[in-house]
Amino acid sequence: KDSIVFDADLSPLRGTTLAVVGYGNQGSAQAKILRASGLDVIVGNVRDSYWEKAERDGFKVYDIPEAVERAQGALLLVPDEVMPQVFKEKVEPSIKGKDDFLLDFASGYNVAFGFVRPPSNADVVMVAPRMIGWGVTELHSKGMGYPVLVGVEQDASGAAWERALALAKGVGAIGLPGGVAVKSSFQEEALLDLMSEHTWVPVLFAAIKACFDVAVEEYGVSPAAALLEFYASGELAEIAQLMAQEGIFEQMKHHSTTSQYGTLTRFYKYYDQVRELVEGEAAQIWSGEFAREWSLEQQAGTPVFSRLWRLARESSMSKEEHELYRALKRR
Ligand code: NDP
Repeated sequence: KDSIVFDADLSPLRGTTLAVVGYGNQGSAQAKILRASGLDVIVGNVRDSYWEKAERDGFKVYDIPEAVERAQGALLLVPDEVMPQVFKEKVEPSIKGKDDFLLDFASGYNVAFGFVRPPSNADVVMVAPRMIGWGVTELHSKGMGYPVLVGVEQDASGAAWERALALAKGVGAIGLPGGVAVKSSFQEEALLDLMSEHTWVPVLFAAIKACFDVAVEEYGVSPAAALLEFYASGELAEIAQLMAQEGIFEQMKHHSTTSQYGTLTRFYKYYDQVRELVEGEAAQIWSGEFAREWSLEQQAGTPVFSRLWRLARESSMSKEEHELYRALKRR
């Protein structure tokens, strides 16, 4: 299928200076791989320890407006929460007068929900790694690629897709074993990313906490036994790894038939309830309702967010986890 791409031509980016804006998780990883791919890379950052790190790594570093000014393309790799302000104050003014510019994002959120509105003279593309920056570096050091979602929101030059795929190659995602780019969009990326965060992750956390509370409070199980069973042993990570390698259902073969029977019966029993929950959350994401909620929460100084973090840290499960992890020398 042509929506899956395994390799691309770097030539649309040759002779282009790319400014990596933000030298954090993604920024430091992507800048180094772009340079190793033979592309011309400079870094834009605020003057702090990240600036110094970029210099130590051998990059020319500039204040963000100057870096963008000096470049023909920019990878915007600052946190999504600060992106709208950084874009408006430090990036957009340096792009406006240019004939042509390539703007790349590593997540769809701000463009999809209208918090960043790029000028019409720029190609607006997305190369979104399905991987943290550390994972990107680790895989690249082993000569491996990684999965990315690629999108084009605005094709001012007529060559935005070629440039986006060239970037996916330049940052080491494709053209290497294990690498794949899936043609998608900013909206789809934002939906998928938030769907995980709003459905199976919190449902998993809620299920684990409910299991812990019931086992300890109602059945007198020791907290350490419960924690080790439900997540502290690392078995969960092994299952996740097998899901990625062998398939979500196929990996069940590694578990007993008693386990398979229990899992399949309860999976079908709860599916409809969970689907209803997922439909509600997806609708809130797609309509922009969640983005507005989070934006208002940030404007108010994150009172709900801070209260919920406090609640989570003060829960009996977190306290027992702290004791266990100290005993296991993880803390
Ligand atoms: P980080 O938090 O690691 O990077 C932050 C960088 O932005 C630092 O250089 C930081 O500099 C700079 N920065 C932070 N605040 C400001 C500000 N107010 N003004 C100017 N610069 C600022 O971000 P990530 O690498 O995690 O995320 C970057 C993008 O990549 C996001 O769009 C994210 O969604 C996407 N992404 C991230 C993944 C990950 O690995 N976490 C995975 C996939 C996509 P300083 O702190 O010195 O101010």
